[in-house]
Amino acid sequence: MREQLAQAIAKARRIVVFTGAGISTESGVPDFRSPGGVWSKIKPIYFQEFVGDEGRRREAWTRVFSGTAKWTGARPNDGHTAVAKLVGQGRATAVITQNVDNLHQDSGVPDDKVIELHGNAHYARCLDCGLRHEFDEFRESFTQRGEIPVCRACGGLVKSATISFGQSMPREPMDRAEAATLACDLFLVLGSSLVVYPAAGFPLLAKRNGAALAIVNREPTDQDAYADIVLHDEIGPVMREVVGP
Ligand code: ZN
Repeated sequence: MREQLAQAIAKARRIVVFTGAGISTESGVPDFRSPGGVWSKIKPIYFQEFVGDEGRRREAWTRVFSGTAKWTGARPNDGHTAVAKLVGQGRATAVITQNVDNLHQDSGVPDDKVIELHGNAHYARCLDCGLRHEFDEFRESFTQRGEIPVCRACGGLVKSATISFGQSMPREPMDRAEAATLACDLFLVLGSSLVVYPAAGFPLLAKRNGAALAIVNREPTDQDAYADIVLHDEIGPVMREVVGP
């Protein structure tokens, strides 16, 4: 199967890579939905709680600055490096990710090639005007004086740029992901169990549109039966071998 995957990648002209928690657990980032994952240890703060309750906002910012969720501080592994290489060669047109850890960008994939379905845990956005803020802008005022961050432009509430439970999926990345999926000739899933919708709809959309579908995931997925190539294996070693170091 590794040989088949190498051939499919070599033959493809417009690869879309779709990544989930599995590619990042190999870098030590916890899988936040699995048993033993982040959400089994700390209770998620729902979007409505963040907006409606100052105490929950304070708790959310305390978690950001203490690194509770361990979404920051990890380094890309061989899987991320191989994906960056495919993008750099112009053979992968987009990386759609369910991860919020910024590891694709850290491995050298340009920002405009990464489509983040669940946002990004490395910076914040104003909930009213959308302006990006860096955590460092607020670190001292929050940790020293307990001031809850607000937007420097409009005074609105600022939140980590992840998509919280209860927060609607933003339209723009979904539209971009769909367009990329419909334009690809190989849809390559790396480390997603493909159970969280609507994200999990993309592989079947690609397949119905005539693309080949390849899945590399440690455990079986719900969509293995539809895939042309399936490998139940670690992503880093497989991708290092099929893409080259
Ligand atoms: Zn604002």
